[in-house]
Amino acid sequence: MASTSLPASAKEATTRVQRGRDLYAEHGDKITHEGRGVYTVPGCAGGAYRVDLAVFGGAESCSCPDHRHHREYSCKHLIAATIHRAKTTARRRRESEARRARRKQNQPMELTGGEKLTMDQIKNIGAHAVMDDGGAAAELARLVAN
Ligand SMILES: [Zn+2]
Repeated sequence: MASTSLPASAKEATTRVQRGRDLYAEHGDKITHEGRGVYTVPGCAGGAYRVDLAVFGGAESCSCPDHRHHREYSCKHLIAATIHRAKTTARRRRESEARRARRKQNQPMELTGGEKLTMDQIKNIGAHAVMDDGGAAAELARLVAN
C-alpha cells in the first residue's frame, strides 16, 4: 500500500504527534507549567526542555535540537505540552462546573411559610422533626423531589 502513503511533510508531522503522545503517556506527570504558557517538558533521554506554547501570540518554541532544526514542525515536546495544557484546562473546567453545581444545589429555597432553607439544612433536619409536622414533611418531600 505504499502508493497511498502520505506526503513526506505530513508523515514528519504525524510522527512528531505520535512521539509527543508517547512522551506525554510516559512523562506527562513531570511536565510543569512555569506560567504564561511556558512549560518545562522532560526529554526522553533525561534533561528537560523549555516549551513556549505562545498562548498570548507569537511563535511556539522549544529549546530542543529538533525544534531548532525543524521549526516547520511542532516537536514532540510542544505536542506533549499541548496535550498537558488541554487536559489541565478540561479538568479545571470540570472542577469549576462541579463547584458551581454544588453551590447551585445548595441555594436557599423558600418554604411556604417564608422560611428559607438550603438543601444541606433540609437534609440535616432529623426525621423526628419531620414526623412531628405532617405539613412540613410534605413540604420537604416536595422540595427534595424537585
Ligand atoms: Zn522540543
